[in-house]
Amino acid sequence: MVEEAFDRKAVKVDVPTERPEEYYGELVFNRRKMMEYLPRATYSALINAIENKQPIGRELADSVAEGMRRWAIDNGARHYTHWFHPLTGGTAEKHDAFVEHDGEGGVVEEFSGKLLVQQEPDASSFPNGGIRNTFEARGYSAWDISSPAFILDKTLCIPTIFISYTGESLDYKTPLLRALNAVDKAATKVARYFDPEVKHVTSFLGWEQEYFLVDESLYSARPDLVMTGRTLMGHESPKNQQLEDHYFGAIPSRVEAFMLDLELRAHKLGIPVKTRHNEVAPNQFELAPIFEETNLANDHNLLLMSIMEETARRHNFRVLLHEKPFAGVNGSGKHNNWSLGTDRGAMLFAPGRTPKDNIQFITFIVNVMAAVHKHNGLLKASIMSATNAHRLGANEAPPAIISIFCGTQLSDVLDKILKNDADLTDLRSKNELSLGLSQIPEIMRDNTDRNRTSPFAFTGNRFEFRAVGSSANSAAAMIALNAAVADQLNDFYEKIEKRRANGEELVDALLAEIRTLIEQSKPIHFDGNGYSDEWKEEAARRGLDCETSAPLIFDAYLKPSSVDMFKRTGVLSEVELEARNEVKWEMYVKKIQIEARVLGDLALNHIIPVATKYQTMLVDNVSKIKELLGNEASESIEANLDTVKKISRHIGNIKKTVSEMVEARKKANAIEDLRERAIAYHDNVVPAMETIRYNIDKLELMVDNEMWPLPKYRELLFIR
Ligand code: ADP
Ligand code: MG
Repeated sequence: MVEEAFDRKAVKVDVPTERPEEYYGELVFNRRKMMEYLPRATYSALINAIENKQPIGRELADSVAEGMRRWAIDNGARHYTHWFHPLTGGTAEKHDAFVEHDGEGGVVEEFSGKLLVQQEPDASSFPNGGIRNTFEARGYSAWDISSPAFILDKTLCIPTIFISYTGESLDYKTPLLRALNAVDKAATKVARYFDPEVKHVTSFLGWEQEYFLVDESLYSARPDLVMTGRTLMGHESPKNQQLEDHYFGAIPSRVEAFMLDLELRAHKLGIPVKTRHNEVAPNQFELAPIFEETNLANDHNLLLMSIMEETARRHNFRVLLHEKPFAGVNGSGKHNNWSLGTDRGAMLFAPGRTPKDNIQFITFIVNVMAAVHKHNGLLKASIMSATNAHRLGANEAPPAIISIFCGTQLSDVLDKILKNDADLTDLRSKNELSLGLSQIPEIMRDNTDRNRTSPFAFTGNRFEFRAVGSSANSAAAMIALNAAVADQLNDFYEKIEKRRANGEELVDALLAEIRTLIEQSKPIHFDGNGYSDEWKEEAARRGLDCETSAPLIFDAYLKPSSVDMFKRTGVLSEVELEARNEVKWEMYVKKIQIEARVLGDLALNHIIPVATKYQTMLVDNVSKIKELLGNEASESIEANLDTVKKISRHIGNIKKTVSEMVEARKKANAIEDLRERAIAYHDNVVPAMETIRYNIDKLELMVDNEMWPLPKYRELLFIR
């Protein structure tokens, strides 16, 4: 590849002279590479297995492995790894070289079908919520043929699921594939009412990844960022986002060089990233791809998150994927744009031109509404974590209550259907908004919701699940959503079939069930301001889940309605659900524990010594001035004494609260039950951390700037 240097402020990015279509997918074992490297029969057998979701036999695996190895070696790879998504979040890999003994004292490069298809990584260090203790110590990783292998850092990466010896899932991918399968089956049955030729329904995901960048040297000087991914202290900068000048503003050139590099690498890995822009907060940015099938889209998001970290380092930045790295400015989310489409090209959440299209559209919309209503607590649990807890309900992100925004057009149609006077002929033309002035032509307005306060919004042809956290594996949300919708569609199908068996016409049966669902799911529909206090009260009246404590929110996974739904759809068994919750509570405890330790250390060993030194300086100053000027300087003496007193108070509060926090931790750690321990951390450790932070942030405003031991927000947040 001929490359020309692209030099911006000493950051060099190699810009290929080829166009994206030439290097796109260069590092992916896609169909084109398969065609080139696999024998013809192997190629068709593999494609057949992928398309029909069939397992592959040993002989086929051997042949595929051989071709894959040759391709990987031709592209500089020396190692291979099974790439999977453990419950810690993130991705896991264990690299092996291709070398095998040749029987004559040397080695040959080999890769067998057995190694491609299945491995036994030493799994004891991955969280399993007790599954492997109860059952069997081993874990297996097995190739997910629906997601193509790729080369990352000279290593052939094979996307795999990760399961226990007895078949319980120990990862995110296994239940995600099950949920996608469930929604495919259920939605296909219903979609056939409108098009009998439909064979499959695919779930699509387009994620929007938000993130912060920080200069590497400043990052390294903040132990809290290094250890926890967020600032545990720091007073707001005088200027942050109040001028609203960052969103869609010019991207600083250093950042642009990083983005360009990242996009190149993403495109070579077949990740179709497309949009990039500044976000609302200073130093906050967003990257979004063209949407893809959900499993592949999610693999791509996880892969992107890991190459982001690496690419940022090359540009002397650190990327912060934490949901709330800085208090006082917006946090980061990962909007999950989600839709369903048939193999016949119909997008099921998009209004159409004919009455038939539109009954189909409404059918799928109301089933989603019903599923989200029934499982609103579960969906909230699916996006909750110790880190996302800082963002939700923080008057910038979606509130910690799940509701659906429909927008005026859709709301209007739903109302009319209930009143039995809907004209379903052409919902698309209803996009026209009348301005009420006859001489001005009606303008078409995108049906997209601009109400950013909704956690789950209908946006014209898809739903946007906005409560997902920026550091999360979106699979958790996609498992819950697709499974819940599958279950609801199965129920809907049964009800329609019952009506038809009683002699009802299909259209009448559909409209009758649609009306019932609109009526039943009314409580989940909310187009107003999700940040308002009135909504919290109203939501409680409507019976929506209003819990705000993360450890208690996780309980929703174990409610009978969730357990039954996951069981019926075959997505997760009760054992798996229990194990996963154990992991959630444990992760919650560990995250807060680490933060509390770092905060305690910073408070006692960095902040208090400096504050004390400054206080002593002031006291010295007071006595010297008194000696020199006596009562003449009473004003400055009083002012300084006042500061001395204030500093004393804050130091005292910090010391006292750190001791209380340590005590609270000790007490919590002694609790055997993980759920109870997580609750204790939430109820007793977190509030202490907030008090400590409050006092430190006050000190930051008083102590000599030169002495302050940590970079401040105004430095961290403005890249030049
Ligand atoms: P926004 O105005 O919310 O920023 P964009 O047009 O940038 O919207 O799209 C955001 C994401 O939604 C992109 O990843 C895009 O590919 C995805 N998207 C668009 N249409 C669909 C769809 N029908 N299903 C799933 N994702 C979609
Ligand atoms: Mg969006």
